[in-house]
Amino acid sequence: MSANQATLVLVKPDGLKKSLTGNILTRLSETKLEIVAAKIVRVSKELAVEHYAHLKNQPFFDELITYLMGELHDRKKVMAVVYWGEDAINKVRKLAGATNPEEADPVSIRGAYGRITTKGVYENVIHASSNEAEAKREIQLWFQPQDIIVDLYPAQEVAEKEVLRKVWVN
Ligand code: GDP
Repeated sequence: MSANQATLVLVKPDGLKKSLTGNILTRLSETKLEIVAAKIVRVSKELAVEHYAHLKNQPFFDELITYLMGELHDRKKVMAVVYWGEDAINKVRKLAGATNPEEADPVSIRGAYGRITTKGVYENVIHASSNEAEAKREIQLWFQPQDIIVDLYPAQEVAEKEVLRKVWVN
């Protein structure tokens, strides 16, 4: 029996544009993993570049960044979710399916909902962390410790002075 792991799932802009969030979360619930954090994010160029830093020499990199930022769709947002539980990384990767949506198992999420556009973009509707080191790097990139309801990684409290924060007016 393997230990609990955390993994990052992103519902990419094509998934949001196609109203697939519900279907994707339902498929992922088959894993019986627990959602420990979730949010909708407006993805900056810096965040997209950092997330996919390992692919920066690939010919499709610039298009991948515009895709993750939502510029190829009219939904400039991504849903970020942290799943937690036993063998979480492999369970989610298996349900997600292969990177190339045309080669992915048709019953996987990418096989069922993904496509390659006529311009050659892999619109594969979700991202799923590939190993524990990547999961930690990605979760720490997309979330702060207080966003997550379990203690995944060591964190410390710091006193912040003069931080501007929006609060409700009423
Ligand atoms: P993943 O972990 O399965 O998402 O695969 P990678 O980390 O290798 O690639 C990250 C993302 O880049 C993929 O999810 C695709 O959106 C995109 N991508 C990967 N390979 C290709 C490719 O050969 N062509 C294009 N256009 N996009 C790709």
